[in-house]
Amino acid sequence: MTITSPPALRVLSLGAGVQSTTLLMLAAAGRLPKVDVAIFADTGWEPRSVYEHLDRLEREVARPANIPIVRVQATSNAQRITGDLRNDSLTPGAFVRLPVFVRNRHGSGAAMVRRQCTEEYKVAPIKAAIRERLGYPHPRRVPADVYAEQWVGISRDEFHRAKDARVRYLRNAFPLLDLPGSADNVTGWTRGDCLRYLRRAGWGSTPKSACIGCPFHGNRQWRELRDDHPEEWADAVEFDRALRAMPLRGIKEKPYLHRSLLPLDQAPIDKVTRREWSSRQGNLFDFFADEDPEEGAVDGCSPWSCRGDIAADQEAA
Ligand code: SF4
Repeated sequence: MTITSPPALRVLSLGAGVQSTTLLMLAAAGRLPKVDVAIFADTGWEPRSVYEHLDRLEREVARPANIPIVRVQATSNAQRITGDLRNDSLTPGAFVRLPVFVRNRHGSGAAMVRRQCTEEYKVAPIKAAIRERLGYPHPRRVPADVYAEQWVGISRDEFHRAKDARVRYLRNAFPLLDLPGSADNVTGWTRGDCLRYLRRAGWGSTPKSACIGCPFHGNRQWRELRDDHPEEWADAVEFDRALRAMPLRGIKEKPYLHRSLLPLDQAPIDKVTRREWSSRQGNLFDFFADEDPEEGAVDGCSPWSCRGDIAADQEAA
C-alpha cells in the first residue's frame, strides 16, 4: 500500500552517537524540520560518558528547542527482562543475548552467537513507546493510515545500512543522506561531515554509544576502555569471567567477549589492526566501517542499523 497521509508523529531514534546527535542538533537549530520526540533506548549498561552526553544534550540542545528526549528500557516478566542487560545476562539459566564468541563447530576458531540484545533491549522498547504515542499501545491494532516517521542517523559512508523498520506503522527516514555534501555535486553527509559539524558546535566529545561489554568492540575500543576507563574495564572483565562461570541457556560452548576466545584481561587487545594503522596515517573519518572485522563497530550500536553486525557477517563468512 502506498502511504500518502502525513505522519502522525516524527520521531528521532537517538542512539546518542555521532550521527543521531548530529540529527538532533540540526533539528534543534532549524536546519531540519523539528521532531516531536527523540527516543533513547537504554540497555542499562552504557558507559558513563554516554549518559553524561545524553544529559548535556537534553539540557543544552533538546530542552531549549522544545524536543523531549524520552528514555525507554525493555521489561518483560515472561522473558525475565528487567531493562538491565548486564544483570539480566547474569541471571542463572538466562539466555545469552549478547553476540558472544564461542568456539566454532569445527573447533578451528571463533564464531559469534546470534545477537538478541539489540532487538530486545532497543528495538522493542522503541516500538512500544512509538505505539503508545500514536495512541495504539500493543495489542491495539494501528490503523492502516496511521504511522510515525522515524529518523535514523545513517551517514553517506554507510548508506547501505539504511533499511525499513519492517512494521507498517513505522516509516524510516535518513535525513543525513539528503543534505548537501561537503564536496561539489555530492549529496549526503559522511560520518566525517558529522564530526566536523559537531566539533564546530562544541560537541567534539560525542562518544560511541555501545554497551560497556559489547563483543563487537574491536581491539582499539577495548584498549580505550582499559586505559581511559579502568572501572568500566574491570566491569567488562568481571562480566566476561562471570558468563563462563554460570549455567546459560542457548549455547553449549563457553562464551567470551573477545574473538580470541581468551579471558578479556588476557586477550591480545594491544594488537593494532589494519584500519587503525590506516587511520593513524590520516585517513581518519571517511572509511567504511566494515573493512576490518577485528576493528569492531566503529560507531557503536544503533538500534535500527547495528553497525556491529558487519563484524558478525565477516565472522560468519
Ligand atoms: S551495544 Fe552490543 S551488547 Fe549492547 S545492545 Fe548493541 S550489540 Fe548488544
